[in-house]
Amino acid sequence: MVKALIIHGGAGAWRIRPGVDEAIEAVRKCTGHGWEVLSRTNSALETVIEAVKCMEDSGFLNAGYGSVPNILGERELDAGLMTSTGFMGAVAAVKATRNPILLARIVAERTPHVIIAGENADKLALMHGLPPLPPMPPHVLERYRDSLKRIIGGEQVDNYYEALRKFISDNQLYRELVRSILSVYDTVGATAIDDNGVLAAATSTGGVILKLPGRVGDTPIPGAGFYATSTIACSSTGIGEYIIRTMPCLKLSLEYELSNNMHQALNKVMEHVEKSVGSNTLGFIGVDAKGRVFYAYNTEAMLIGYIRKGEIVVDLKPEPNVNIVHVE
Ligand code: ASP
Repeated sequence: MVKALIIHGGAGAWRIRPGVDEAIEAVRKCTGHGWEVLSRTNSALETVIEAVKCMEDSGFLNAGYGSVPNILGERELDAGLMTSTGFMGAVAAVKATRNPILLARIVAERTPHVIIAGENADKLALMHGLPPLPPMPPHVLERYRDSLKRIIGGEQVDNYYEALRKFISDNQLYRELVRSILSVYDTVGATAIDDNGVLAAATSTGGVILKLPGRVGDTPIPGAGFYATSTIACSSTGIGEYIIRTMPCLKLSLEYELSNNMHQALNKVMEHVEKSVGSNTLGFIGVDAKGRVFYAYNTEAMLIGYIRKGEIVVDLKPEPNVNIVHVE
């Protein structure tokens, strides 16, 4: 049997972000921590939860403590997890819980549901003694202000930000809010396989910066932000609206089951993504039942950490506008 672990700290435009060195260090530390948990417990589920919790606690990745705010400066967090044995839970738009991935586990273990959203999810966290979300770290606040300025100033030119700028300028209330309010981190995820052949995936995020209040992205949606079957476990990152439209994790599991060829399956998924929602939209990581780790993305860069022959490999891969598909 095999053990494998790969984690990500998000896909996107890393070069324009402050705090990149700290983010890379966080991914290195959490890869090592996840591997230690996998070696000690031989549980893929414990491993992905612990690796994601570690990234949520770092403050330098867009999840848990480091989550970026919505357009009103509030944080609304999403997370989801799943194993190849059918264990599955997710939370959406939670505002007061430090570790949404622990709450997703509670949804899976203690409730008859798959997804719980909003303030009642926060109440569930309180009932189970989970720690509250601390105030936003100063560098995240700075990033928020910075992003807002760049959008309003027309410096962010891709479709998502252009649509947001139009929304703000068409709505007096938002125009005024933004005027009165006046940094980039990313989602985190982990996938692992243990010696028993159980595959697990977990993803956690603060969502896309400056999202509208109440917006829920791909992260708590099975097949989109996370997915696990007996053949693959997968965790996605990027613009949630594009991920939900293309379901990369679900599509990958179907393509891989059809062809039994990981390169071909990854390429098919990325072709589908390019055709449906275009480039610079998303990335994902995963493990297969043979213990191989893989990743694919079409964004400017993606931050990943994995274990190769017992050693931690951390990579911030910048390849603007090219599809990168890799199997290790
Ligand atoms: N996929 C996340 C979302 O849209 C954001 C990210 O990956 O950075 O909520």
